[in-house]
Amino acid sequence: MNIKKRIELIESKIVSACERSGRSPNQVKLIAVSKTHSVEEIREVLDTGLRVIAENKVQESLEKIPHLADQYDEFHFIGHLQSNKIRKVLQLKPVLIHSLDSISTISKMNRILEDEGNKQQILIQVNTSGEVSKSGIEPENTIKFLSDCAQFNNIEICGLMTIGKLCDNEDEIRKCFKILNERFEEAKSLNQSNLEMRYLSMGMSSDFELAIEEGANLIRVGSAIFGPRNYKGSEL
Ligand SMILES: *Cc1c(COP(=O)(O)O)cnc(C)c1O
Repeated sequence: MNIKKRIELIESKIVSACERSGRSPNQVKLIAVSKTHSVEEIREVLDTGLRVIAENKVQESLEKIPHLADQYDEFHFIGHLQSNKIRKVLQLKPVLIHSLDSISTISKMNRILEDEGNKQQILIQVNTSGEVSKSGIEPENTIKFLSDCAQFNNIEICGLMTIGKLCDNEDEIRKCFKILNERFEEAKSLNQSNLEMRYLSMGMSSDFELAIEEGANLIRVGSAIFGPRNYKGSEL
């Protein structure tokens, strides 16, 4: 199957998942996760009309994204962000950074943005699976964490992100998405000038349909679009 066919298949699965859950497909944005894939492969995706791309490593993003200037509509950063790479990722003007889970990193980002006179939209990553290898704040700390971010005027917190449990048990994966949706709804009642809960980023190649059923409106899909990644093993 070529890239175009794979994207069409995903889009039809998005439509079905939306029908099952009484939602409209235009409420769900598909993000093409292009990590480990070449600029040429990314162009192939962009040429199909899917123009929202994401990377999870700063160095790799710097090597690829500038070559695609004017060819994409949105670049998202979805990986763990080390505090010494904040400036670099901001240079790429990501529409959204999905993966912040540390007050000190957010504080440092806020300072840089303040100096530059810029703002940045972000999501907070929550560890809903309990897997120690995963980044993200504890679900029960979500409200406290968001409140602690109230002081940062140059960031805009737009929602939450999670990675579902990596397993074959649908109920366990679904539980992760339910947990995130509950925190998302809860956080909507926070009255904070730098916070507006709009995006629920959850679901990847193996579980985006479940995620949509549980309320996702941003799904991050890599291998189902590009095929297997160009390295051995998972680097999640
Ligand atoms: C790689 C990655 C994805 C996409 O994973 P696939 O299983 O290839 O769809 C989604 N989200 C994050 C944070 C990732 O690092």
